[in-house]
Amino acid sequence: MQNLLDLEPAALAHWFAERGERPFRARQVSRWVHQRFAADVDAMTDLAKSLRASLAGSAEIRAPQVLRDTTAADGTRKWLLDAGNANAVEAVYIPEDDRGTLCISSQAGCALDCAFCSTGRQGFNRNLTTGEIVGQLWHANRTLLADGIRAPWVEAGRAPITNVVMMGMGEPLANFDNVVPALRTFLDDNAYGLSRRRVTLSTSGLVPWIDCLRDQCPVALAVSLHAPTDALRDRLVPINRKHPLESLMAACVRYLERAPRDFITFEYVMLDGVNDQPEHAAALIALVRDVPCKLNLIPFNPFPGSGFATSPRERVRAFAGELQDAGIVTTIRKTRGDDIDAACGQLAGQVHDRTKRRLSARIPIAVAR
Ligand code: SAH
Ligand code: SF4
Repeated sequence: MQNLLDLEPAALAHWFAERGERPFRARQVSRWVHQRFAADVDAMTDLAKSLRASLAGSAEIRAPQVLRDTTAADGTRKWLLDAGNANAVEAVYIPEDDRGTLCISSQAGCALDCAFCSTGRQGFNRNLTTGEIVGQLWHANRTLLADGIRAPWVEAGRAPITNVVMMGMGEPLANFDNVVPALRTFLDDNAYGLSRRRVTLSTSGLVPWIDCLRDQCPVALAVSLHAPTDALRDRLVPINRKHPLESLMAACVRYLERAPRDFITFEYVMLDGVNDQPEHAAALIALVRDVPCKLNLIPFNPFPGSGFATSPRERVRAFAGELQDAGIVTTIRKTRGDDIDAACGQLAGQVHDRTKRRLSARIPIAVAR
């Protein structure tokens, strides 16, 4: 059976062509799946009966199974999704007055081993398929609609999720071949129809793949910087040893030639006494001088054995002030869904391994602007 969620628009058209069907049929089916969130072919009532019969025997719509579904007091909702072999990933819905954001995962685990990240501690399990990535958005939209979500844009006929951020579990650029078809599905007018600036990919800095993304599917880019010098970043974000800051900054500038926004968002997790001192702010200002950017300071979410502590609130504010005084637009990420450990992917471990689950970090939700 072909999972239709695995096929980006061009691949769906190709699959239909191979079966002797006209291209408009592919677009029609795409709208049923990605705009009306049909769960099976039988629901596609305006398709020719013969086509429905042939599809019923060869195609399915299969999103990851939900293991747990929790809603926080502030409306943040987290789905823990089965990734097989006792692995799970998360998708987190963050409601706001003017948008509905979904934070999605790209891998079960992560190989990049950033020092402060609990996903990194779990190691790498596997890449999610395109269908598992698209399935997170399909599932969130379908479920929120079925639950009768109220939002002005939904009343106007649009889907509940207006923005997608790839800030959940995993390094999206390390799963490029599955992530890019998913991004194309998010953008396609016969699928989710999101504009490029409403889709944000966050990367720890895989320089060659930043260039590939620029060439193949430039969406809004967030880069997890976390340190202003190579010496410190080598320690916090080990991929820096392979792609040091100078090459990362150059890749950011190249990216902006095609990016849907005219800035890069730099994420910077505030680690007490490690990267949050005035000299770090000064080095950071010098580092990003030539890159049009915004800085997003993330309060560190500690977990047992992490070896790091959260910077005091006043230090985070002072650090933000130092950057702002230098003319850098700086925001402090607000924490959402605290009471359900809504964690933008960092929480989901091997579901049957209780030790690992207890060690999971609570990550504040990133709301990309
Ligand atoms: N792998 C990608 C995207 C997923 S991580 C990346 O690294 O960019 C999403 C964001 O959460 C990244 O900026 C990451 O550095 C940050 N993060 C990871 N662990 C964290 C923690 N314990 N506290 C706060 N932020 C964390
Ligand atoms: Fe992987 Fe991102 Fe965590 Fe680093 S911060 S280990 S790249 S998920």
